[in-house]
Amino acid sequence: MSEPSPGNRKVRTAAPRLIFESGSPGRSGFCWPSAEDPARDAIPKALLRDEIAGFPEQGELEVLRHFTRLSQRNFAIESQFYPLGSCTMKYNPKINELVARFPGFAEIHPLAPADLLQGALELLYELERLLVEVSGMEHVSLQPSAGAQGELTGLMLIRAYLTEQGDPRKKIIVPDTAHGTNPASSTLCGYDVIQIASNAQGVIDVAAVEKAMDSDVAALMVTNPNTLGLFEKNIEMISEAVHAKGGLVYLDGANLNALMGVAKPGHMGVDVLHMNLHKTFSTPHGGGGPGAGPVAVKERLRDYLPVPRIVKQGQRFELIEDCPKSVGRVRSFFGNFGILVRAYTYMISLGGDGLEEASRMALLNANYIRRKLEKSYQIAYDEPCMHECIFTDRIQHKFGVSTLDIAKRLLDYGFHPPTIYFPLVVSGALMIEPTETETPETLDSFIDAMLAIAREAKEEPDLVKTAPHSTPVSRLDEARAARKPILRWEPSASG
Ligand SMILES: *Cc1c(COP(=O)(O)O)cnc(C)c1O
Repeated sequence: MSEPSPGNRKVRTAAPRLIFESGSPGRSGFCWPSAEDPARDAIPKALLRDEIAGFPEQGELEVLRHFTRLSQRNFAIESQFYPLGSCTMKYNPKINELVARFPGFAEIHPLAPADLLQGALELLYELERLLVEVSGMEHVSLQPSAGAQGELTGLMLIRAYLTEQGDPRKKIIVPDTAHGTNPASSTLCGYDVIQIASNAQGVIDVAAVEKAMDSDVAALMVTNPNTLGLFEKNIEMISEAVHAKGGLVYLDGANLNALMGVAKPGHMGVDVLHMNLHKTFSTPHGGGGPGAGPVAVKERLRDYLPVPRIVKQGQRFELIEDCPKSVGRVRSFFGNFGILVRAYTYMISLGGDGLEEASRMALLNANYIRRKLEKSYQIAYDEPCMHECIFTDRIQHKFGVSTLDIAKRLLDYGFHPPTIYFPLVVSGALMIEPTETETPETLDSFIDAMLAIAREAKEEPDLVKTAPHSTPVSRLDEARAARKPILRWEPSASG
C-alpha cells in the first residue's frame, strides 16, 4: 500500500467542547427584549431570571453544529445495522412520523372534551381492534407506556381477577430464560417468583410446569418465542396445565415480530399479553422512550382493564371512567398518543399481508445469519430459530477471546454489537436479531465482519481483546463510566 495521503489520513479537527466551554458574552441566536425594553414588563416578574451562572452564550449555527456533532457520535438504526437481540431495532418508516405530525394529532390538548377528539379516539379504538386481530385476544388497553409497565398492568389485572374470585394466590412461575422485567414486575406486584428451568432444547417442559403448579400460583409468565429465539412448542399443553390448577397464563409478547399473521397468542391458551409497539410495530426506541406496551386480555379479564376505556356508541366514540372493577389509571390520559399514531400508521400502511411478510422476512433473515455463522461460532441450540439467533463464545474462548471482545471489535467494523450475555442460561451469549428491514447486502457485510473477527480471534487475539480501536474512546470502566461520568473529551487521553 502506498503512503497514505493527507486526503485519507484522519485529520483531527478541534476537540469538541462542552457547550458550557464555548461561546462569548453577548452572542445569541435570538434577541430577547433588553432589560429596559417595555415588552419585558409584560412578562410576570416571577418568570424572569437574572443571570444563569455559566450559561453558554452562543449563536444559532454554533449551537446547531454542537448538537449535530453530538448526535453523530451516537448510534442509530438510520446510520447503521443494529442487530440488538430482543430489542427489534427495525426501521421506523417515515410515513409514521408524517402522520404523527398532522396538526390534528400533534396539537390536540389532552384535556379537550371527547366532542373535539373524535378522530383521535377513532384512531385509538381502531388500533385496539387491530391489536386484537393480530394477537387473537379479545380486548386491549393502550395505556401502558413500556413493556415492563404492560407486564405490571397485566399482573394487576390477574391479581384483581383472582381476588374477586376469592382466591388471590401468591406466586408467579417464570422460566429461567425470561427477560429480567418478568421477575421484576412480579415482585413489584407483590408476588413471589418461582423459577423453572428450560430443558436441553431451550424450551419449557410441560412436566416442569405441572410440578411447579399448585393452588397458590396465580400465573405462569411465558415468552413466546422465548428469549432463546425458539418457539415454545408445548405452549398449548403448558396453558392447559396452568388452567387445570386454576392459574392464568401471561404471555410476554414484547417480541411479536416472529408471529404477526403467522400465529396468534390468543389461540395458545393465553389469558393476558402485552405487546411492545416500540419493537414489533416500528415506533422509534433506543433512547429510553417514549414507548407503548398495550395489554390484551380475554373476555373474563375485560372489566379489570385500566380506565379510561374507549367505547363506540353509534357513530360516536366516548371515554368511560365508570368501570367499578377496573384497576384504575396506570398512565396519564391515553398513553403515549404520538407513539400510538405511529403504530397505527405502520399497521395500516403494511396491511395484514404486509405484517405477515414482515414476520416471515424477520425469520428468514435470522436463519440466514444463523446458517452463515454456525461454522465459526458455536450455536447455542441447533435448530431453526425464530426472529433471532444465539451464538456463544465457546470456540473463541480457546484463544482467550470472549463475547465482550467480539462485541467491542464489531464497533471497529461499524456495527452495533448484538445483545450479549443474555439470556443468562447461555454462557457467553451473542443474541443477534437482524429484523426484516435489512437488505441481503447488509446482512452479508455483517456476516463478513463476524467471520473476520472469528479469524482474528484465532490469529491475532490481542487485536480483538483490545478493541475497539477506531472509536473516540476505547474500553471503558463501565461501572465507573456510569457512576462518575467524565463528559469532557481529552484528545491526549484517548490517543
Ligand atoms: C424488551 C422486552 C421487555 C421490556 O420492554 P420495555 O419496553 O423495555 O419495558 C420485556 N420482555 C421482553 C421479552 C423484551 O424483549
